[in-house]
Amino acid sequence: MEIKLQLKQNNSVDQFNFDQFQFGVEATDHMLVAKYKDGQWESATIRPFESLQISPLAMCLHYGQTVFEGLKAYKQVNGDLSIFRLDRHHARMNESLRRMAMPELPEALFCEGIKQLVGLEQDWISDLEGYSLYIRPFMIATEERLGVSISKEYLFMVVCTPMAAYYSKPLKVKVERQYTRAAKGGVGAAKNGGNYGAAYYPANLAQQEGFDQVIWTDGRDHEYVEESGTMNLMFIIDGKLITPPVGETVLAGVTRDALLTLAKDLRWDVEERPISLSEIKMAFESGKKVEAFGVGTAAVIAPFEQIHMDGVDYFPSVDADAKMFQLKQQLTAIRSGEQTDKFGWNTLLNAPVLG
Ligand SMILES: *Cc1c(COP(=O)(O)O)cnc(C)c1O
Repeated sequence: MEIKLQLKQNNSVDQFNFDQFQFGVEATDHMLVAKYKDGQWESATIRPFESLQISPLAMCLHYGQTVFEGLKAYKQVNGDLSIFRLDRHHARMNESLRRMAMPELPEALFCEGIKQLVGLEQDWISDLEGYSLYIRPFMIATEERLGVSISKEYLFMVVCTPMAAYYSKPLKVKVERQYTRAAKGGVGAAKNGGNYGAAYYPANLAQQEGFDQVIWTDGRDHEYVEESGTMNLMFIIDGKLITPPVGETVLAGVTRDALLTLAKDLRWDVEERPISLSEIKMAFESGKKVEAFGVGTAAVIAPFEQIHMDGVDYFPSVDADAKMFQLKQQLTAIRSGEQTDKFGWNTLLNAPVLG
């Protein structure tokens, strides 16, 4: 699949202040745009970033056929450019697209398009430690029609935004036992926009009560923990790493998978199984050492310092020697090239991509 290139006249990266910026507000100079119509991808172009023109009848504005991904590119310590787990993000985007009855993306469009775009935008990745380029691929239904049916036209786009080193201050979280993020048979496993819109209200209520985020529980009994906010959820109880299994209601996080792989490689005890609230309560009440944290692309690990459950507060360990930080350190070292990439997670762009 040919990807055309239209370069911007004057790049704005030289004026960008890497010392002070808000994540996700300013896009890089270029974006990838590909159009799908009547069963095929028609064109793909990398062109200057600009606003879209879209009909008010476009179906994505009404019926929620939208899917997105989030991944990162890094400048490694030796200067090589690297994209973290590009193929896995491609596979997951296609899984989400299938569930939303949207066309899948060929590798030649998703992977090659992202590689070319990142190569072009590499000056947006600062050499400062921990900086990265956040890559946001997404697809929307664009057929212009108010009829409730599967759209026949789509726009696939990739935009990028710089990201500074991400420090996640320990979070106070509340176990949510009224609202539901995902139900069996629903769309919780897909990265579709509606899942986020549906989570704002309960998250906002928790924030009004002084918490940073919620821990979602199963939609049937609200008895088993599933995810936290938009991150997967992990516990380390007496040295054993425990996390709920992915499936219909728990999204298959790429960070989750990477951390589990690393933990198994370190020969830690690892269990993927349902975790009940009573198990968590008991672990705290019997004085076991408990670490609890969210995991996702943005923060890698977001430690919890307080868990509010049925009116009682529990305090997991966030000590500097907590085991979760070992995992984060390992993952960071692989991404930055300081440690051997023995699982083949880095897609390197050291060859000049644009010939
Ligand atoms: C994106 C996402 C995650 C984390 O996935 P990563 O691939 O690790 O970034 C977890 N849960 C939900 C609901 C998500 O949307």
